[in-house]
Amino acid sequence: MSETSGSVAERFEQLYGAAPEGVWAAPGRVNLIGEHTDYNDGFVMPFALPHTAVAAVSRREDGVLRLHSADVDGPVVELAVDALAPASDKRWTAYPAGVVWALREAGHAVTGADVHLASRVPAGAGLSSSAALEVVVALALNDLFGLGLRGRQLARLCQRAENVYVGAPVGIMDQTASACCETGHALFLDTRDLTQRQIPFDLAAEGMRLLVVDTRVKHSHSEGEYGKRRAGCEKGAALLGVDALRDVPFEELDAALERLGDEEEVRRLVRHVVTEDERVERVVRLLESGDTRAIGPVLVEGHASLRDDFRVSCPELDLVVDTAVEAGALGARMTGGGFGGSAIVLAEEADVPAVTKAVEEAFATAGFETPRVFGAVPSAGARRVR
Ligand code: ADP
Ligand code: MG
Repeated sequence: MSETSGSVAERFEQLYGAAPEGVWAAPGRVNLIGEHTDYNDGFVMPFALPHTAVAAVSRREDGVLRLHSADVDGPVVELAVDALAPASDKRWTAYPAGVVWALREAGHAVTGADVHLASRVPAGAGLSSSAALEVVVALALNDLFGLGLRGRQLARLCQRAENVYVGAPVGIMDQTASACCETGHALFLDTRDLTQRQIPFDLAAEGMRLLVVDTRVKHSHSEGEYGKRRAGCEKGAALLGVDALRDVPFEELDAALERLGDEEEVRRLVRHVVTEDERVERVVRLLESGDTRAIGPVLVEGHASLRDDFRVSCPELDLVVDTAVEAGALGARMTGGGFGGSAIVLAEEADVPAVTKAVEEAFATAGFETPRVFGAVPSAGARRVR
């Protein structure tokens, strides 16, 4: 159960004058491998963090939606469900309101709700605090209104909320991870049809740890750069005559790059996406054959591709990866969209103190902000907790 579910329920009662009908939790995520592939119909492999967004929720039948977050200063925000309109809200409330909008637009009779939430997923660290927020609200409404939607259907609706209502052109990975991940597993997800396979990923049992290093920087140009990468990938697919870059077989990469001629930037983007899909499949094979330590070099390869070909890394992320590997880690890479946010480090348990110290010292020497380092155990996806 989530640590904060009791206090969230109590605060709900203070705010709204009655106990909530229930409390739900949905996690943030870390992506083990498969970066910038989810808008190319490709493969990703996230696992859920122990950190969750927790929401206490009750139904309403009068068309009123009331929203409150323990983590944002300000009073309860009251909205009319009939009046919800895409791109009308620049505040945090756009995420939960967008979910209500997407459910109603899909024909589900969500007639209002009271919501109070609190989250331990660090916001803006590339760990998907936004998806945790959406999924926890979607799951609560699914249960309370008896909608009978499955995890992957909720994920699609949450993505629609974020794409259309919030106005952020994100892929499907984050919401699916939050909705569908399982304890002790990474989720091998085909983002084209949402086929999924739970891959055992129990590092502690094998004497290893996975560290998340939140660099605490977010470079301001990240949104524009994300849009440019997406557009470049679409251009590559169009030039190659495929629906999405996922359709370029790894074995035919060289021929495809040749066909792109002097489109130098598009060539780099295509090379990253096609090789990254292959890396995901390689990691799946290694994990399923019990060769967990061998994924380390694949992570480092993936980072080099994101740095040199896709060009979404930054000095802070490169420093984490270089320093961790130098200090004896099995592997490391940036995770999430890039331009700041977090990196992951795979290390033998015995090496964790040395690796952590090396990264912290390197950041101090470089004059960067002190990073936040924590161990990430593959945890449960969204669930009801009360
Ligand atoms: P990420 O998903 O990587 O954390 P995003 O920019 O996609 O970063 O989402 C962060 C946004 O989600 C915040 O700016 C805020 O609007 C919303 N958010 C995250 N956590 C909370 C919270 N606990 N309460 C209210 N809003 C939150
Ligand atoms: Mg997000």
